Amino acid sequence: MNFTYILHNFTVLTIDCQNVVFKLNEHLENIVILASHYDSRVKATKDPNLSLRSDPVPGANDGASGCGALIELARVFYNNRLDLECQIWFLFFDAEDQGTDYDTGITGWDWCEGSSRFANDLEDFYDPSEDFDCLLLLDMVGGDNLQFINEQYSTSSLLQEVFEIGRQLGFEETFPSNPISSTITDDHVPFVQKGIPSADLIINFWNNPSWSYHHTTHDDLSHISNQSLDITGKTIEQFIYNNYLDIPENNYIGNYPWHDDINLLDTEIVIILIIVIAVVAIPTIIYTIYKKYSKVKIDQVLT
Ligand SMILES: [Zn+2]
Repeated sequence: MNFTYILHNFTVLTIDCQNVVFKLNEHLENIVILASHYDSRVKATKDPNLSLRSDPVPGANDGASGCGALIELARVFYNNRLDLECQIWFLFFDAEDQGTDYDTGITGWDWCEGSSRFANDLEDFYDPSEDFDCLLLLDMVGGDNLQFINEQYSTSSLLQEVFEIGRQLGFEETFPSNPISSTITDDHVPFVQKGIPSADLIINFWNNPSWSYHHTTHDDLSHISNQSLDITGKTIEQFIYNNYLDIPENNYIGNYPWHDDINLLDTEIVIILIIVIAVVAIPTIIYTIYKKYSKVKIDQVLT
């Protein structure tokens, strides 16, 4: 028994799309999903050169990097499949990256079309005797100067465990102790909503001088780092071995089953809250002082 694969067809507007899942160790009960999207954005809506914004994004990082890492992991885990206590699904999503952009005329598509539909149809893909343990999503894992963020829709205990494993392997720059926090609408969200612990390994792609090619025509192989792919792959590999290697000396204690989920607020939301509190607080303080002062004055007049 090797890999089983299933195609999941769907249509967005009139366009035929297709998710693909490859299953390893299908006879086992617990399922780990490793996922990535394989489409890339049809138009380079953030290209610094306005005349290139109708060109497609090559998607070397935003799309292909995660898929490349998954394919290599499939090869590695296939060789160790008899020692693993879990099923692994290698899940490739279509139609993640075509969200609306009125300026360049991408309309009618939402982000994450493929994963939303797959999650909706999830019951068609497994047997009720099977259990989903977790999903790890790899999105933009191959750029230079790789540094993952603390993505806030992710299940925190799961994401934290992956970060800890990365740091234990010596990848402190990629998995920093104090990562940037932000919420990203990505392919893991429909699975979080289904109650499956899920984590998104993703970078700061909106304001990042060390990888500034998001949704531009420059997201090509010249900005891909083998080392980043290696770091991502080795960390996921170790995560699976820690939790699922079926050998007597495996005494690993992690956060399994990753139900704990304590997420911080976005840095931006915290700043807005501070501004709102300040706006409310300052007039209140001024008013209180003013009232007190005028009362003293009245008291003085009365005495
Ligand atoms: Zn994208």
